[in-house]
Amino acid sequence: MKTRDFDPLKLDVAAFAKSDDALLEGTWPLAELERLVSSTVVPANEATPVTWRARGELRAVRGGQPQIWLHTEASTRVMLECQRCLMPVGAEVMAQRSFLFVHGEETAAELDSDSEDDVLALTRSLDVRELIEDELLLALPIVPRHETCPQPLLDGEPEPLSEDGTPHPFAALAALKRGGLPN
Ligand SMILES: [Zn+2]
Repeated sequence: MKTRDFDPLKLDVAAFAKSDDALLEGTWPLAELERLVSSTVVPANEATPVTWRARGELRAVRGGQPQIWLHTEASTRVMLECQRCLMPVGAEVMAQRSFLFVHGEETAAELDSDSEDDVLALTRSLDVRELIEDELLLALPIVPRHETCPQPLLDGEPEPLSEDGTPHPFAALAALKRGGLPN
């Protein structure tokens, strides 16, 4: 089977891993990744498409059946809400993960709990887009923020000046209390 015969939304993982070049790649409009879109602040059509790639691998195992692996990577750029000034902030999001596929949900759950690898049950119809979307969601920054916010913040504002441009009397008083002298 040639790679072009495989549908990334309904991937027969074992057949894909055994196929000649076992590589699928392309781009998806961000709008097709609805959960990711709902985590961003601008309309999806202004956002960068998701660039992705999935590679299958049959890994030889001494004295046993070869293991079936799927290696995924994806990247995009989304706008998030800055947690400091609440304005949009752009964030590059990149995800890369390998999955080992085994027969049966139970075996997968067992192996997954005591292995550093991600283990999934082998399926003849894997939605690679959903898998990659999960990874991108995990890769979103937890506290997105600008390095330097575009607008001054309320608590970052300079001490208020009185109308003649001298420091506000209360500011001068505060400086005195801190042990400094007003100019
Ligand atoms: Zn900000």
